[in-house]
This record gives sequence, structure tokens and C-alpha cells, in this order.
Amino acid sequence: MIKIPIDLAATIYLIISVCILFMWFILEKKTKYIRIKKEDTFWICPLCFYEYVDSRSKDISRCPRCKTLHKKGEK
Ligand SMILES: [Zn+2]
Repeated sequence: MIKIPIDLAATIYLIISVCILFMWFILEKKTKYIRIKKEDTFWICPLCFYEYVDSRSKDISRCPRCKTLHKKGEK
């Protein structure tokens, strides 16, 4: 078995812990970004008032209930 000094072992353990925390922080940020993006593609059909999420398009969308195409912000 390889003998390592306790202070070196503690340093390695600390570095690994910080790395895990940093990665977790990045992943958490990414998840929040996706959530905001999904809110951007939230649609309300002007004909049947059906609420749905369509992430494929930003300007034009097809309502899954009445199958009509409508633009973003159309009333
Ligand atoms: Zn509709």
C-alpha cells in the first residue's frame, strides 16, 4: 500500500469536494436556463384558449387541440 501524508490526503479530498460542488452549480444553472427557454415557448391558442408548450418554433405554432396555425402574440 502507498503511504501518503494526511495533509496531502486532506488536500486531495478538498479539491475533489470543490470540483463536485462546482459541477453541481454548473448543472443547476443549465437546468434553470432550460426552464426559462420553455417559458418562452408557452402558447395560448387564440381560438380555443388551449394552453400548451411548443419548443419547436418561436414565431408560429400549431394548436394541438384545434390544429390551427397562429402567430406569437396574435389575439
Ligand atoms: Zn386551439
